[in-house]
Amino acid sequence: MVDRKARIIDGLAVAHSLRTDIRRRVADLQSSRGIMPGLAVVLVGDDPASAVYVRNKIRACAEAGIRSFEYRRPASIDTATLVALIEDLNANPEIHGVLVQLPLPKHIEMRKVLESISVEKDVDGFHLYNVGGLVVGNTIFSPCTPYGVTKLLEHENIPVAGQNIVIVGASNIVGKPMALMLMQRDATVAVCHAKTRDLAQFTILADILIVAAGKPNLILPQMVKTGAVVVDVGINRLPDGRITGDVDFEGVAQKASFITPVPGGVGPMTVTMLLENTVAAAERVA
Ligand code: NAP
Repeated sequence: MVDRKARIIDGLAVAHSLRTDIRRRVADLQSSRGIMPGLAVVLVGDDPASAVYVRNKIRACAEAGIRSFEYRRPASIDTATLVALIEDLNANPEIHGVLVQLPLPKHIEMRKVLESISVEKDVDGFHLYNVGGLVVGNTIFSPCTPYGVTKLLEHENIPVAGQNIVIVGASNIVGKPMALMLMQRDATVAVCHAKTRDLAQFTILADILIVAAGKPNLILPQMVKTGAVVVDVGINRLPDGRITGDVDFEGVAQKASFITPVPGGVGPMTVTMLLENTVAAAERVA
């Protein structure tokens, strides 16, 4: 048996406890205000991975008592028609959150589509208003994956103020919003990406290391400070079908104080924060 030093952060358990609270809030909204939170999910094209994500989101909604409305459109749809659909959803009082599953086909103007979602229904947090709000600290909805990471850290009572936090990955949906959210919480943040020279010279300084690059085994034990908290956002499918993160889990768990597994770490939190944002949207209306 491997002698692991790190405490494993059980994302499934944290997600389960948050979802119990979400179900209670949904029941309260129904009994006190007659409001049933509703989420519209728009899926364009037939990308199999996107279809799986959408199916999971719809199932999670059903389990939480949130009504979901699925809108499937062919890959040939044009930007204007998609925007018109979103404008209908914005005006529909039964729908409190609107989510457009990414990626969209290349010919569609993604920014135009995301900007057409009403800010009050932007439960993915990708509208420029919500993205800009991350800079000044008054976002209505935070993007689900980084939001889920902050909840995991909170749940484990891991302080972030004054900590050196290194984020590996600078995407618009994970790395950059993650950095802004942690800066709001007074962390000292460095963001690394594919062009970073000598990644290890940054990662070794991290009290908290958050990895979202999509590269299996990118983070090896010698790149991690003893006692660091390591959060692995990566999801990679290996040739043998197994799912793995970006961190050498067994090796790094010998040095870290906390570590998230893949699967069962950040993943379950992402959908949970989508449910949280949808209920919060309905509560705002109430
Ligand atoms: P993405 O858009 O492909 O961005 C990857 C980022 O990692 C980019 O900033 C890239 O740098 C950087 N990067 C790539 N290789 C690197 C390397 N060798 N060293 C340092 N940085 C490197 O991916 P994403 O959408 O942010 O997702 C990242 C990973 O998280 C994927 O595995 C994805 O499946 C997973 N994910 C998980 C969840 C969840 O719920 N757990 C949610 C979303 C994403 P450049 O900017 O220089 O290209």
